[in-house]
Amino acid sequence: MASPVISMPDECSPSRLQPKMNSDENRTDAPPSFVMGIDLGGTSVKLGLLYGDEVVARDQISTAHCEEPRDVFRQAREFVIEALRQNDATFDDLQSVGLAMAGVIDEATATLMETANLHSWHGIGFHQELARVFEKPVAVINDANAAALGESSFGRHRTDSLSFLTLGTGIGGGIIVAGRPINGSHGCGGEIGHVTIDHGPDARRCGCGRDGHLEAYAGAAGIVQTAVEQLEQSDQPSALRDTADLTPEAISDAAESGDAIAIETVRRTGVHLGQAIAMLAQIADPSVVLLGGAVNFGGNRTQTGKRFLKTIHDEMARLSLVQTGSTLEIDFATLGNDAGMLGAAQHARQLAGHDHPNCSNERQHEKR
Ligand SMILES: [Zn+2]
Repeated sequence: MASPVISMPDECSPSRLQPKMNSDENRTDAPPSFVMGIDLGGTSVKLGLLYGDEVVARDQISTAHCEEPRDVFRQAREFVIEALRQNDATFDDLQSVGLAMAGVIDEATATLMETANLHSWHGIGFHQELARVFEKPVAVINDANAAALGESSFGRHRTDSLSFLTLGTGIGGGIIVAGRPINGSHGCGGEIGHVTIDHGPDARRCGCGRDGHLEAYAGAAGIVQTAVEQLEQSDQPSALRDTADLTPEAISDAAESGDAIAIETVRRTGVHLGQAIAMLAQIADPSVVLLGGAVNFGGNRTQTGKRFLKTIHDEMARLSLVQTGSTLEIDFATLGNDAGMLGAAQHARQLAGHDHPNCSNERQHEKR
């Protein structure tokens, strides 16, 4: 195991990360406590220890040599014991542990039902494994829901009414209502990548096997397909014709250089997202929708990214009731890769001490 990298806070308080206090367990007069967040990705695991609202230690470990989840959790436990020690605390001071991971999660048992990367871990009861290793209240959450919760609690746009989309190979989503993530009856709540935006006979086939889903248009492969279709349908010169490996990044760079086909590809992607977000706006009425993930066309740093955002907003507003369309804010997420880990910790904190099937709470400890 790599030795933990412990980052000490510059000062004990106030915190650099002040989450919005929007629920009973987050009362500002509640004593601070240590909680741990674990973000389990396909190849690496992000670990964080929070005291109150501040990340006081963090580490990243690889899943390469982990045969099963308990190997990961044991390393995580070693990390947190050392991190607590360096913060003049003991394992008894750890209130709860939250785990975020990709895939469809049965909330009652925290069993991984479906996932892209950890195929050999299907059907494993993560909640049980986590509780067995840590002997603490534990909570398991889908990674997109965790990112949504992390952004709503610690990001630049703090609100208890927020929706979050991850734009990458696939499109994930998380919806926060009244400060809590919506998981749904089957763990699929907030899966906006699989809403239908094209009902026509030529609708694209989504990776899930259905036709016309958002992901087939605004996922990485869908964006590339949009560019390829334009290249095939016109003789217009474009730098993309000479690009061997056509990716959203290459399209983003070309758009930023003024390439008309690349610019149109970004615009069409924005329109597709705007259509889906308009549906989301009428269903959940969030105050803000955030876009995370690697496919952001440069985000707020580039003209292409800003134009992308405006296209999404304009299309959403065109299709929505005035009340939602005129007030809904759409922006890029701000926490990057930390969002899942922070959201997992926040989820654990929310559930600890509450009667919930996804959180065993028989053992609780308060900061001395
Ligand atoms: Zn689909």
